Amino acid sequence: MDGATPRPVAVVTGASAGIGAATAQRLASDGFDVVLGARRVDKLEELAARCGGRALALDVSDASSVEVFSSEVERVNLLVNNAGLAVGVDPLAELSDEAAETMWRTNVLGLLRVTRALLPKLEASGNGHIVNLGSIAGFEVYAGGGGYTATKHAVRAITRTLRLELVGKPIRITEVAPGLVETEFSMVRFAGDGAKAAKPYEGIEPLTAEDIADCVAWAATRPPHVNIDEIVVRPRAQATATVVARET
Ligand code: NAP
Repeated sequence: MDGATPRPVAVVTGASAGIGAATAQRLASDGFDVVLGARRVDKLEELAARCGGRALALDVSDASSVEVFSSEVERVNLLVNNAGLAVGVDPLAELSDEAAETMWRTNVLGLLRVTRALLPKLEASGNGHIVNLGSIAGFEVYAGGGGYTATKHAVRAITRTLRLELVGKPIRITEVAPGLVETEFSMVRFAGDGAKAAKPYEGIEPLTAEDIADCVAWAATRPPHVNIDEIVVRPRAQATATVVARET
């Protein structure tokens, strides 16, 4: 990159852990200035110290936090909507409003808010790109996953709708849809119960956060006229959300 061209800016939500942290690190090493958003600012600052990014507090489920965060981002080329979570594995008959609302506010409304807030700046960049972290839960379902899969189906619908609404504008849109990735995701889902959290990864080699960062970075570094619509990526041992070959 020559000194006259400013480095492209990537905003990564949920950059304090897992896929977001690995993606931010990877994008920084690929030549992006990274803006890191999440609620745990101490974690963001540690990462920023390692990869030279800017750490900004962000709670995607809070409209005023998204507003303040977005106003501090002067320019942006790449938005990685990664912040997300699952709460429990209750069947729908027992799913609490609280769990459902937490997932919807974070995974759906949060993604929509950050996207809406940064769209004008993405367009103004002349070469914008939105990468949404979906999931195989965006097109598959499993018993006990109804609260979470509904939100990831919504992320998929939003991504596909945006592709229609943004056509003709200089903004690409990609969904990266992973299967099992070993991160803090499972610890969050099972509220810190380590034994339950370890179960999904038992007897297989799951994907790593870096594997997903690799997908995001690949999509983001295609030439501007190339839109990667979606990347579905699973561990070799996983055929569907529920068909997993485990070594015992
Ligand atoms: P993770 O390790 O638990 O990381 C989740 C990140 O989201 C954290 O940085 C967390 O930061 C952030 N976050 C959660 N709520 C937030 C909020 N309200 N505002 C801002 N940031 C928030 O999980 P992960 O596996 O990396 O998950 C990243 C994304 O990948 C999620 O969208 C998830 O649905 C998706 N995904 C994961 C898997 C998997 O198997 N792990 C598979 C498919 C898709 P703070 O807590 O500091 O705010």
